[in-house]
Amino acid sequence: MKFKQLHRWPLMILLAVLIGISAATTVVLANNNTLTVTASVVNVRFGPGLSYNTMGQVQKGGNLTILKKQNSWYQVRLAGNRVGWVASWLVHEDAATTSAAKVARTTTNVNVRQYASSSAKQLGTLSSGSTVSVLYQSNGWSQIQYNNTAAWVDSSLLQLTGATTTINPTQTAIATAKATTPTLKATTTLAANVRQTAGLNAAVVTRIAKGATVTVLSQSGDWYHVRTADGKTGYIASWILSMPGASTNKAATKLSEATIVIDPGHGGNDTGALSTSGKYEKTYTLQMAKAVGAKLEAAGAKVVYTRSTDTYVDLAPRPVVAKKVHADAFISFHFDSTPNANTASGFTSYYYNASKDKALATNLNKALGSNLSLTNRGIAFGNYEVLRDNDQPSVLLEMGYINDDHDFKFIESSTYQQTVAADIVNGMNAYFAAGNHQ
Ligand SMILES: [Zn+2]
Repeated sequence: MKFKQLHRWPLMILLAVLIGISAATTVVLANNNTLTVTASVVNVRFGPGLSYNTMGQVQKGGNLTILKKQNSWYQVRLAGNRVGWVASWLVHEDAATTSAAKVARTTTNVNVRQYASSSAKQLGTLSSGSTVSVLYQSNGWSQIQYNNTAAWVDSSLLQLTGATTTINPTQTAIATAKATTPTLKATTTLAANVRQTAGLNAAVVTRIAKGATVTVLSQSGDWYHVRTADGKTGYIASWILSMPGASTNKAATKLSEATIVIDPGHGGNDTGALSTSGKYEKTYTLQMAKAVGAKLEAAGAKVVYTRSTDTYVDLAPRPVVAKKVHADAFISFHFDSTPNANTASGFTSYYYNASKDKALATNLNKALGSNLSLTNRGIAFGNYEVLRDNDQPSVLLEMGYINDDHDFKFIESSTYQQTVAADIVNGMNAYFAAGNHQ
């Protein structure tokens, strides 16, 4: 079994965890929409994309509260106020569960709790005979609207009146969800110090053996706030933790799960190469990037551009974008040129790291080669900074020779750009379908 090191988790995961923490400590006003899991089991991920690690799973029939929708993903709240993401095609959004609530009356004085548990924090008390709106009931607990939030009371202390009422969703903050997910467990790869705060100089709370299992509560930079098997909490350096489950994650093989970074070469006062008529490479890299991005978005992918206008962007920040958004693929567009015009023709797909990038280059090149009129010069190793410094699967596509008049006629035509875009979508689909992702 392959173990995934926790310290590889990127910034976005940290953000997701931080969002989870802040959601736990503040009242969040959210649309009171829920969804039902329709697949046999759904992975809940740290971010909206297949390259994010799984933080838990929800079984078929489980309900989740929707916080927002992004691309083809729902951000949902899990038990314990944790926040994660699920793929939209594996769940069914049911608005009906929330528009109406059942009216009930308390039969005695009732404690109102934050979660469906008698040990959960008490938010207040309802006196006997109070009227409440019941959002839903489960396992002997009723979720009610309470002080513009959602809270729980023991169902046996309520009597439904038979009437229903309408809830204004924007006024009801959802404090919890019915779904239960396994908590995130990690295993120490070495004997580990559990520290009071995140940092090597912090006081040691306890020391645990190699192979010990801890529950990850949150992330703080390179450190994880954990709870040990004997209930102590503290911080462990992420680089000595591994998460078993990660390698068994069944990532769906869909482009619509993916985040793709599109990198139009050059820009601003970096014009790139010139056509024989003096047209700039930067103009066509941007046109092509936008054509490709639009088609990828139409296919459900999340697209992030390193530039979307005619502005100068240095080389170094471009791969950083891919890392930041945890991109499933990074595609850079350029057009070749030769010292003497009209001496070379065709398109080439470049990769840098054979194990990380070559499958992407191969799949894209194959799709492009299927119908483009220009000569396919194949795939090749290319020592480009945007590939070399890229942690994500990345390719650089030279989509024709700009100072070749035959090629340029294609480069500037929107038909060619649209065909390339459609080919990239096909190539990405083939790439994912073949299981080429983390
Ligand atoms: Zn270029």
